[in-house]
Amino acid sequence: MRLQSVIRAIYPPQCVACDAQTEDDNGLCAVCWKDTQFIGGLVCNTCGTPLPGEDHGEVVQCDDCMTIARPWDTGRSVLVYNGVGRRLVLGLKHGDRTDLAPTAARWMAQKMANLALSDTIIAPVPLHWVRLARRRYNQSALLAQELGKAMNLPVCVDALLRPKRTNALEGHSRDARFAELSGAIIPNPKRAVQIVGRPVILVDDVMTSGATLAASAEAVRAAGATNVSIVTLARVVKDA
Ligand SMILES: [Zn+2]
Ligand SMILES: [Zn+2]
Repeated sequence: MRLQSVIRAIYPPQCVACDAQTEDDNGLCAVCWKDTQFIGGLVCNTCGTPLPGEDHGEVVQCDDCMTIARPWDTGRSVLVYNGVGRRLVLGLKHGDRTDLAPTAARWMAQKMANLALSDTIIAPVPLHWVRLARRRYNQSALLAQELGKAMNLPVCVDALLRPKRTNALEGHSRDARFAELSGAIIPNPKRAVQIVGRPVILVDDVMTSGATLAASAEAVRAAGATNVSIVTLARVVKDA
């Protein structure tokens, strides 16, 4: 019996969204699986939002990504931000559910498998230090670290800094979000040598307007990243 099997026999895997035991390796029990909207099929190549129609392999963009500046190249997201997807993001962000990160990162790794270029480095969207102190961990950094393990890629957790404390963005208009984030995120001068000349995968827990990811993408570009892709655990989708 392999060690993994022994561990599983002692601790049967639990659903990441509830406490039910699950036989599945996907991390969710059958009940939660039904209440989870995994993004698949045709997606926007820039933000990963699901689109109507069939996937014939062509590159398509959603309306938002055609009209809003997206200073990155490609993007994917795992879950629609509703039901279980929303619960997982909130648990990871506010509920100290750090145990979710390896499963979430495994899903994100599957999404990014075909987008990762050689010599890619992974970097999380940064938190301001006051918020980091209050929350004790940066959920995006945690996801980035686990994604690095899942994809066997290096991670630079402090590639970006957030010197400006921004207001909470919940409930703000898209324009207000972009204005608030403008210049709020900068490259860490101590890490520039790790970013310059390399493709970067930026990691965040959820994409709403994309303002935070845009500010982060601009910062890694300023640090010399050659190609920037983004991956989020969940994507806020209109009418979802
Ligand atoms: Zn469950
Ligand atoms: Zn899009």
